[in-house]
Amino acid sequence: MKPASFDYVVPRTVAEAVEALGDTGREAQVLAGGQSLILEMHLQRIRPGAVVDINRVPELDGMRVEGDELRVGALVRHAAFEPATAVPGPLGALLSRAVVNIAHPPIRSRGTMAGSFGWAHPASEWCAIGVALDATVEVTGPAGARDLPARDYFLGPHRTARRPQELITAVRLPLLGADTGVGFIEHRRTHFTFAQVAVAAALTVHDGVIVDARIGLVNAADRPVRAHAAERSLLGAETGRLPAGPRLPDGHPFALAGRIAAREDAAPVAQPYADVEYKRQAVAVLVGRTLLEAAADSHARLTAREGHHR
Ligand SMILES: Cc1cc2nc3c(=O)[nH]c(=O)nc-3n(C[C@H](O)[C@H](O)[C@H](O)COP(=O)(O)OP(=O)(O)OC[C@H]3O[C@@H](n4cnc5c(N)ncnc54)[C@H](O)[C@@H]3O)c2cc1C
Repeated sequence: MKPASFDYVVPRTVAEAVEALGDTGREAQVLAGGQSLILEMHLQRIRPGAVVDINRVPELDGMRVEGDELRVGALVRHAAFEPATAVPGPLGALLSRAVVNIAHPPIRSRGTMAGSFGWAHPASEWCAIGVALDATVEVTGPAGARDLPARDYFLGPHRTARRPQELITAVRLPLLGADTGVGFIEHRRTHFTFAQVAVAAALTVHDGVIVDARIGLVNAADRPVRAHAAERSLLGAETGRLPAGPRLPDGHPFALAGRIAAREDAAPVAQPYADVEYKRQAVAVLVGRTLLEAAADSHARLTAREGHHR
């Protein structure tokens, strides 16, 4: 199919973009990478009166560290996070492990992180990382700029707290301390499809005891989920000697956290090839394994630091 006809607007500044979006008579959509929008327009599931192409607004490009946060401008493409060194510390490692799961290279070279927050698909890797880490979505609208905490931002599939006239200007992610280990594991049916379930984890371990845990669940509900109950079960737990393989003994704190995440945090929605029980089982297994990966990463970072100080 071909898209229904629409006006095409090319602003040069954030102010012009906001003005175009505020022209409510036309039900405008933002064009960032176009990797979701264009497909939806071709299928005529979205028929905007106007498309506001933000690709020529230089102030929306670039990412930089500001204080203890990484500020990712609305034009930063998924591919920018592929090198583990693009972003400092464990946050960079988490983002680079997650990004290779998003579609395939041509999509990653156009699609943007902010566009993923705009689209708010329950299977978005970035959105689950955003809720797990307490990210902030920066928006500007006719009434000015405001910050939306990721924990209050997602309201359901493709539904967010952003008003239609507001432009996402950036996403801010807190940097992770040098003593934090990270993991990301995704399960999907074929190479380039969305996740059936995926898990992001960040663990801070002091003297073998977990002092902070962050767990984000991808496609385990109608929106990204932070697994609070599973996280609570880990605080104060000892990591002990880490099992060598991916299988965890039943009584291991990571296996327990997986079962809690599946039972209390996830609220799966059935999909073709993945019913609710299947998804709960996948959450239980993947949470355990991702925590194991994060604990191993934390251990490796500690060992590297000790070696450095010797
Ligand atoms: C085959 C295929 C596989 C894919 N697999 C995955 C996957 O595994 N994981 C994943 O996360 N994504 C996947 N995607 C989607 C892809 O990551 C998109 O790039 C992303 O969802 C949207 O980013 P975009 O920059 O392309 O946004 P666009 O397509 O340009 O816009 C998407 C929506 O977000 C809104 N929007 C975009 N930017 C802004 C902004 N700055 N302010 C306000 N609203 C905005 C638009 O109005 C529109 O409604 C896949 C896409 C395809 C086609």
